[in-house]
Amino acid sequence: MKIKRYLIIVLLLLFGSQLWAKEYAVSYLNSTRKDHLPVMEIEGRNFINLYDLERIFDGSIKADQKSQTIDLLIFEKKCEFSFFNNWVHFGKHSYNLHNDIQVINGSFYVPEYFLNLCAVKFFPEEVVLDDGSIIINFPSMQQYLIKTIVLDPGHGGKDPGAVGRILGLKEKDIVLNIAKKVKAYLEKNLDVKVLLTRHDDRFVSLGERTDFANENKADIFVSIHCNAAYNTKANGSEVYFLSTAQTHEARAVEAMENEVIKFEDQESIARYTDLDFILYDMRQTEYLNESSELSEMCQKQLVNTLSTKNNGVRQANFYVLRGAFMPAILVEVAYLSNKYEEKKLLSKNFQERAAKAIYTSIKQFKNKYDKMN
Ligand SMILES: [Zn+2]
Repeated sequence: MKIKRYLIIVLLLLFGSQLWAKEYAVSYLNSTRKDHLPVMEIEGRNFINLYDLERIFDGSIKADQKSQTIDLLIFEKKCEFSFFNNWVHFGKHSYNLHNDIQVINGSFYVPEYFLNLCAVKFFPEEVVLDDGSIIINFPSMQQYLIKTIVLDPGHGGKDPGAVGRILGLKEKDIVLNIAKKVKAYLEKNLDVKVLLTRHDDRFVSLGERTDFANENKADIFVSIHCNAAYNTKANGSEVYFLSTAQTHEARAVEAMENEVIKFEDQESIARYTDLDFILYDMRQTEYLNESSELSEMCQKQLVNTLSTKNNGVRQANFYVLRGAFMPAILVEVAYLSNKYEEKKLLSKNFQERAAKAIYTSIKQFKNKYDKMN
């Protein structure tokens, strides 16, 4: 049996189309950080996985199936590749990679020669290639200050969200009012840029909401909602951050808020289930501590300001939070399915106070993180 196993391994090594060839040791100037960059041999030529490049350069990848292009953003500059061809576009020029980009099992492999281009042509100041090792010199780390805040009024257009049982109040209208008030508070009192994912009654897909936040390099993402439950007695405020571990109640709210995907087209729906989203997930987990902290601050402000029942901070797997690469929370102000809270939610004063509570928690969070720098 053992011999047979060795034989299989030897055969795989000899005839496998993808082989591990060597690796570069990666180090960072003025930092203890270390990494390595594997080189794969594919049909006799050397390639590097684009996701490995993204990692070692702290870059980001955007692949577009329609135009068959992939952008790798490193040091704030774009390297544009096309599937299955041998060119990389950088700035105004195109450079020959001498071999075609490979797409294998959803991963992109670029010819090893790309590293030479990085060191010699694209980033001579930041990348040094030296006999099997790569030294990366990041431009002096920028201060992490909270400058851009994206507020996300849930639902909109054909998706009304929760609808009140007595007055027929629509979640999409209430949360838009609240979001606009939060924006006004923030702009009046803090030196920040505040962007809304929608300004009027229109449908915005979940993916578009987080794309918007990522593209605008938001430092905080706050999605604003009103809750609903089959139990008409359910009431109170709760704030969520992302997790797959959760309680029964959290799962019910998650199912309701994720329901919106039924309004989305097939392409968007595919996006929530494909591998990309697992990667998105992993990137959001980097911010779980901050998200949890912002949730706590917001929950406290809400129950103090609104005198609502404290349902606590909860974790759930909301699609709208999964794609956000920044601290991200989802606020359920109160229950539209509860007749007393529906009445409160209608009141301008209640909306104003909800907005003030959300604003105050963002201010606290900003003060804390800005001071740490
Ligand atoms: Zn909602």
